[in-house]
Amino acid sequence: MKFHVLTLFPELFKAFQKESIIGRALRGKKVGIKMVPLRGFGLGKHRKVDDIPYGGGGGMLMSCEPLFKAFESVTAKGKKVRSIYLTPQGRRYTQRTAERLSKYDEIILLCGHYEGVDQRVLDELIDEEISIGDYVLTGGELPAMVVMDGVIRLLPGVLGQEESHQLDSFSKAFAGKREYPHYTRPAEFRGLKVPEVLLSGNHAEIEKWRRGRLK
Ligand code: SAM
Repeated sequence: MKFHVLTLFPELFKAFQKESIIGRALRGKKVGIKMVPLRGFGLGKHRKVDDIPYGGGGGMLMSCEPLFKAFESVTAKGKKVRSIYLTPQGRRYTQRTAERLSKYDEIILLCGHYEGVDQRVLDELIDEEISIGDYVLTGGELPAMVVMDGVIRLLPGVLGQEESHQLDSFSKAFAGKREYPHYTRPAEFRGLKVPEVLLSGNHAEIEKWRRGRLK
């Protein structure tokens, strides 16, 4: 799978692409992330990507031409591509969304800024709009990272056996519920004890205890 990220601020993605499980997945070629810096498609000497909204009102809008050109630069012919705009007005991102998106060959993520994006871009170029929650952020970069992180960890070979996503919150194995609490050594820390059953070695009882704590 490959992501194309259309953004004014590609630098924000640097650490995300380098560290931890996502960094490992990229180095192991389990996934690809191509940054598409929008400034490169800006107009005129100042590489302008925004303009004032028709009808007045505060703020600036990302304008059509740079965004159409950026989309046209992303070639993904014959592939199963999905183009997504991150926006508070979109449908809420859930584990089911991540599972569905993990089936595509290529995903284009458009990160908005300012007041948002000219509606004609959305009408012509975008398949779906996704929100990561009911709050407003300054830009679509953090939402794009949230979407990619949730999808990438589901891709084959990204998580090791012990890190498997089959036994995570919202998984089928947990009937869509949230996971039980975890403890690690020592068995007692500053008087705080690990539940006795987890030390018992009785796997049937441990399983019963865990199932009882799914929320
Ligand atoms: N005027 C927009 C509104 O009221 O819905 C908010 C624009 S916001 C300041 C700038 C950009 O941040 C948006 O275009 C979008 O790409 C991104 N963004 C902000 N909050 C978001 C959220 N909850 N989910 C996804 N994207 C978000």
